[in-house]
Amino acid sequence: MSRAPEKSVRGRFAPSPTGPLHFGSLVAALASYLHAKSRDGEWLVRMEDLDPPREQPGAADQILRALEAHGLHWDDTVRYQSRRHDAYEASLERLRQKNLVYSCTCSRKDIGAAGEMTKLGPRYPGTCREHTELRPDASIRVRTDEREIRFDDQCQGYINRRLQSEIGDFVIRRRDGLYAYQLAVVVDDADQGITEVVRGADLLDSTPRQIYLQQLLGLWTPAYLHIPVATSGLGHKLSKQTGSRPVDLARPVATLVDALAFLGQHPPDGLRDASVADVRSWALAHWAAAALPPKRMIPYDETPAASK
Ligand code: GLU
Ligand code: ZN
Repeated sequence: MSRAPEKSVRGRFAPSPTGPLHFGSLVAALASYLHAKSRDGEWLVRMEDLDPPREQPGAADQILRALEAHGLHWDDTVRYQSRRHDAYEASLERLRQKNLVYSCTCSRKDIGAAGEMTKLGPRYPGTCREHTELRPDASIRVRTDEREIRFDDQCQGYINRRLQSEIGDFVIRRRDGLYAYQLAVVVDDADQGITEVVRGADLLDSTPRQIYLQQLLGLWTPAYLHIPVATSGLGHKLSKQTGSRPVDLARPVATLVDALAFLGQHPPDGLRDASVADVRSWALAHWAAAALPPKRMIPYDETPAASK
């Protein structure tokens, strides 16, 4: 199935609550908001709280407050993936019935030793493919094949992958029982009727895996738009892990204008003295996805303007 027929536009922002919102995630929130809302669509927020060891208490609420402070109001109630285990389990069961999954008992070291490196990372060599039962104490992989997975990203252009030779069978449930991002995101994007996925280009290489799972589960494929990610001068993605600063809730207008400029939107200087609502109106009226720089990464200087 390709696109949901006659659906109105519905986008989403899907942060992992591992810390407060920083500039890079605000850019993704803003782009996904504008891409949906400028076409009279809906915009949902989904907390991808599937990995408790990486999460920070209170981060989900902090993120929601930061979105509100920047005038990014969501439709519908916020969905939490931590409450969706039954849905992920049901999808896993459908794959199991078609003999598309198996237990993998390899350690990371085993895979490093037996696998080969491709440009996407270590490829799983299929060591455990003959396993027939699903063990609760082992990770679960989905069988890939050599079909061509193609999509035309609205910012990054045409992408074409063959999973079996480039990635190999990949994990959809981890050894610790947690569902993998790749499965959860596919189940929820479909269940929430998402028509447009706008997110950072660091996830571009995940998209063919997600399209493949959509095909196996008989789900439609949304449109994809992967925006450039903000990197530090050293070329690392700005993130909580690299010590990126949280966005300053005391100066949302400045951050929004910087984010618009980062997205290639040329906000007029006068907007810096405007209100959050005015910046949002300007951005909705002028949003041009075609103006996004078709790059995976763009360096961004986090020093606040006042101290530059
Ligand atoms: N939760 C993911 C992240 O914060 C984003 C997932 C997505 O947008 O598909 O990186
Ligand atoms: Zn294995």
